[in-house]
Amino acid sequence: MSSISYQATGVPLELDADVVVVGSGAGGAAAAAHLVSQGLSVCVVEAGAWRPPESMPSDFYGAMRDLFDDWQSTLTLGPALWPVVQGRCVGGTTVINSAICVRTPEKIIASWGAEHGLDATYYARELEQHQDALETLLHIEEVTPEMGGRHNALAEQGARALDGHDHSMRRYTKGCEGRGRCMLGCSAGRKQSLDRAMLPSVLSAGSVIVDCAPVSRILFEGRRAVGVTGTFTHPLTRTKGIPFTVRARRAVIVAASATHTPALLLRSGLKGKALGHHFRSHPGAGVLGIYDEPVDLHQGATQGWASLAFRDAGYKLETLSLPLQMLAARLPGGGTTLVRRLGQSRHLNHLVLGLNARASGRVRAGPAERPIVSYKLGRDDLERLREGMHLLARIHVAAGARQILPGITGLPAVLPADRIGDILKVPLNPRRFLCILSHLFGGVTLGDDPSRSGADPHGRVWGTEGLVVACASAIPTTLGVNPQHTIMALARMRAQEIADNRDVRAVA
Ligand SMILES: Cc1cc2nc3c(=O)[nH]c(=O)nc-3n(C[C@H](O)[C@H](O)[C@H](O)COP(=O)(O)OP(=O)(O)OC[C@H]3O[C@@H](n4cnc5c(N)ncnc54)[C@H](O)[C@@H]3O)c2cc1C
Ligand code: SF4
Repeated sequence: MSSISYQATGVPLELDADVVVVGSGAGGAAAAAHLVSQGLSVCVVEAGAWRPPESMPSDFYGAMRDLFDDWQSTLTLGPALWPVVQGRCVGGTTVINSAICVRTPEKIIASWGAEHGLDATYYARELEQHQDALETLLHIEEVTPEMGGRHNALAEQGARALDGHDHSMRRYTKGCEGRGRCMLGCSAGRKQSLDRAMLPSVLSAGSVIVDCAPVSRILFEGRRAVGVTGTFTHPLTRTKGIPFTVRARRAVIVAASATHTPALLLRSGLKGKALGHHFRSHPGAGVLGIYDEPVDLHQGATQGWASLAFRDAGYKLETLSLPLQMLAARLPGGGTTLVRRLGQSRHLNHLVLGLNARASGRVRAGPAERPIVSYKLGRDDLERLREGMHLLARIHVAAGARQILPGITGLPAVLPADRIGDILKVPLNPRRFLCILSHLFGGVTLGDDPSRSGADPHGRVWGTEGLVVACASAIPTTLGVNPQHTIMALARMRAQEIADNRDVRAVA
C-alpha cells in the first residue's frame, strides 16, 4: 500500500493490519519484512521520519536534529552522565551505525540456555539459518585496504605489532566509498541500513509504514494487546498533529529499542516484576593518537578495522572516524589551543573499545514519553575499561603515534608516548572516563521465570496475550560483539513464530 507521514490536521487516522510493529530499526524492520514475506499484512509505526540518502544531513548538528533520538539528549543517571546514543528515524539506529556485521557467539547462546531457560539448540539452529539469509539480503562486504584508508591500516599495523589482530571486518555495505560519515547517514546510499534494504519490501508487499508517529500507549482488551495509539509529531518542530490508532488482528510487536520498549510497556500500564530491569550495555571509550604523517581519519570506512583478540579480557577494539564537529568537542582546550589542535586533525587517529560490561541498570518511564536510564559501572568493569584504554594507547604507539590524547579527566590532555603507563594509575571513578552507550541490551529480557524476565523464551510479554518484543530489549545478556545481526535474526524468529500461528500468549 503506502507510507503515511506527518498529518497536521483532519480526522484521527485509523488503520488495521494482521500485525502492528512499533519501531522500524534493526528489530522492527527485520520482523516486518519477514512477516510480509510470509503473507501477513503489517503496519509499521515509527516515531521518526524517512531520510533518503540525498537528504542526509551534511554535519553532526544536522544528524542530531534529523536522525538521533531527541538530539542525543538521553544521559545515564548515575555517578557519570554518559550519552545513550540511538537513532530516531525510519530504519532506526541502522541509519547512523557503522554497519559492522558479527554473528552471535556460540558461548552466548549456550549461556541463554543455561542461565535464562531458553532452548539453546533451537536458538542456535534458527539464528544460524536467519543470519545466513540476512548476510545474502544485506550484501555482506569485507573491508578492503582501498575501502579502509590509512586510519584503519595504521590500527591494524599497531595491533599486529602487539599480536592483537584476528578479525577481518565485514559490513552491510554495497561498494562502500569510504566516506567515513556513517554516523551522519550514508549520503552515497552504500550502507545497507534497513530503511533502504528491508522496508521497501514491506511497502511493495502492500503493507503500510506510518512515520513521525510516536506510539504513546499499547491498547489492551483485557490482557490482549489489540493495537497502539499516539499523536503525529512533526520531525523538526515537534508540533503535534492528529491522533492515530492502529489495530492489530493477530499481534503487536514492540521493537522500539532497549530504552523505549520497556518505557512504552510501563507507560501502557504493564507491571511485570522484571520490566525495565537487566538493562545492559557495551560502554564505548576512545583514545586519540597524534602521528607525524597525515592519517586522514575522514577517508576510509568509518569503522574498517576491529579485533576480537581481547574478548576474553572483556573488550572489543575498533577504529572510529568522527565527524569534524564531534572531533572538535573531543579535543581538549579552547581558543587558540583548540584551533591549533584542530589544525592537527589530519594527523589524528581514533581507536575505541566496546567494554563487555557486567553492570546491570534499569529503565523507567519518564516524563514526556522519555525513558530514564540508570546505569553505573562497578569496580571490575572500570578496571577493564582502564586496562583497555591503555591497550588502545599502546596500539597507537606501536603504529607510530608520537603523542596520545587519552580523554581521561585528571590526566594531562596530551601524553607523550613514553608516559602512557600513567593511564593505569587513574583512580577507578566513573566520572574520570568519557563513555558513550551505543550497544544496548535488556529491559524486557527473554527468560523462563517471570520474576526475572520481561518476556517468555519466545518474546511474549509475561501477563499478556498478543504482545511480543523483538528488539535489543529482549536480549538477556550482553554479546561482546556488535548486536545488529543478533537483533535482526531474533526478530525474524519472532516473526516466523507468529506466521506459524504459534499461540501468542504468555500468561504467567
Ligand atoms: C553510532 C552507533 C554505531 C553502531 N554501530 C553498529 C555496528 O556497526 N554494528 C552493529 O551490529 N551495531 C551497531 N550499533 C548498534 C545497533 O545499531 C543497535 O544495537 C540496533 O540498531 C538496535 O536495534 P533495535 O531494533 O533495538 O533499536 P533501533 O534500531 O534503535 O530502532 C528502534 C526504533 O524505534 C523507534 N521508536 C522508539 N520509540 C518509539 C515509539 N514510542 N513509537 C514508535 N517508534 C518508536 C525509534 O525511533 C527507532 O527507529 C551502533 C549503534 C550506534 C548508536
Ligand atoms: S563509510 Fe561512507 S560510503 Fe561507506 S557506508 Fe559509511 S557513510 Fe557510506
